Amino acid sequence: MNSYPDVQLYIDGQWRPAADGRALAVLNPATAGQIGTVAHAGRADLDAALAAAERGFQIWRRTSAFDRAKLMRKAAELLRARAEEIARLMVRENGKPLAQARIETLAGADIIDWFAGEAQRSYGQVIPSRAPDVLQITLKLPVGPVAAFTPWNFPINQVVRKLSAALAAGCSIIVKGPEETPASPAELIRAFADAGLPAGVANLVYGVPAEISEYLIPHPVIRKVSFTGSTPVGKHLAALAGQHMKRATMELGGHAPVIITADADLDLAAATIIPGKFRNAGQVCVAPTRFLVEDPLADAFADRFAEAARKLKVGDGMLPDTEMGPLANERRIPALEALVNDAVDRGARLLAGGRRIGNEGWFFEPTVLADVPVSARIMNEEPFGPVAIVNRFSALDDAIAEANRLPFALAAYAFTRDTATATRLGAEVEAGMMTINHLGLALPEIPFGGMKDSGHGTEGGSEALDAYLETRLVTRKG
Ligand code: NAD
Repeated sequence: MNSYPDVQLYIDGQWRPAADGRALAVLNPATAGQIGTVAHAGRADLDAALAAAERGFQIWRRTSAFDRAKLMRKAAELLRARAEEIARLMVRENGKPLAQARIETLAGADIIDWFAGEAQRSYGQVIPSRAPDVLQITLKLPVGPVAAFTPWNFPINQVVRKLSAALAAGCSIIVKGPEETPASPAELIRAFADAGLPAGVANLVYGVPAEISEYLIPHPVIRKVSFTGSTPVGKHLAALAGQHMKRATMELGGHAPVIITADADLDLAAATIIPGKFRNAGQVCVAPTRFLVEDPLADAFADRFAEAARKLKVGDGMLPDTEMGPLANERRIPALEALVNDAVDRGARLLAGGRRIGNEGWFFEPTVLADVPVSARIMNEEPFGPVAIVNRFSALDDAIAEANRLPFALAAYAFTRDTATATRLGAEVEAGMMTINHLGLALPEIPFGGMKDSGHGTEGGSEALDAYLETRLVTRKG
């Protein structure tokens, strides 16, 4: 698997080209050169996937939780065994450093294992009845065929969370994978196929995202929608799902605040959160972005950040010393340049970076802005790139107000040595996830999801399975 494949659709247990033969180029972000192609599904392919998902659901919902879990664990083992080759595909299509691609692939196997366990714990209830001869029970049943839409920033992680939860619950699924990074998610699906997943239970398509979502979401076969991507697209898809009474999980954008108080361990904060900013070139929905640092520490922290940004080794993710790869999409370069220029025009200080690197591939300098006014676009729009904002505060109330100012509420971070402050931040900062004095997010066993415009539903923890289950009451007399 050393060369990059021409990625096909996976429908009804078969790898196949699009019915009309349509395929688009896949580019390597480190060179902008073509490395392969990806099949683009048309209406005929989507109809075939829907029919397959309907048949697959009838098989899978009757497969016991024990057998579902067994098959899932086998797929996890195959993914682990193939992780090195899959990670190399991921680097070529996404650009991230090989070590990060490896971790993502291996973590994918852990997610499958964890959901396999949850499959066997999807308990209903026995509810005490008012009469001695009445039995009241609830059953947890799979909601039905799922349409899942996943982005390019974590090509495996974004798919595996939805796929594993759906399969654990007994649902079938059609994944609309990321066209920019199609090969590594295809290898994830292959691990399930090779583990013996019946035809039709998991299907994988690529194509024009809007065309596919407009067709799949309203379709009567689909009972559940799950989307990860930007807030505007999420709002559109959630509205479409609502119009057709489909349940929906929305994992959308963020603009995470990081509150660092004057009593914080600055060495710990810098060592923890600065690499966190530049992981995956900042193209992470939970990326730390608005650093709010209490005044006595603000300048020292900003200087350390800028120094680390200047020293960061940016390059092709395949090279062993690369710490940050290119952006995954060319369109993000002008988007980031515009955000940085706007901030500087409004009085922000540019401490490091701010520009494209070279003219081959889509590399962008690790960037640090300081004292950015709230009117700047970057204080309000998700940068989704390697750009940090370091601003100062002198009263904790102001820092909390700034953290809560935006409609986003996905992740938040804090560094403090004071327990009362930590408790207060945990209670008052509006975020689906708050991590204090360490980076503790995105493990399979803990919730992962947002509030407000960052979406609803969780893709981790035991609640994640609920998103794919219906509760049925059965009450029986005698
Ligand atoms: P975009 O809004 O064009 O696309 C984001 C994702 O949504 C892509 O995977 C795309 O294929 C998909 N998409 C777009 N329109 C769709 C539609 N009508 N139906 C179904 N899927 C659709 O943005 P982009 O330039 O690819 O990425 C930048 C923005 O996307 C970022 O600002 C960030 O907010 C968001 N994003 C978020 C995540 C995340 O992890 N939450 C991941 C990737 C992108």
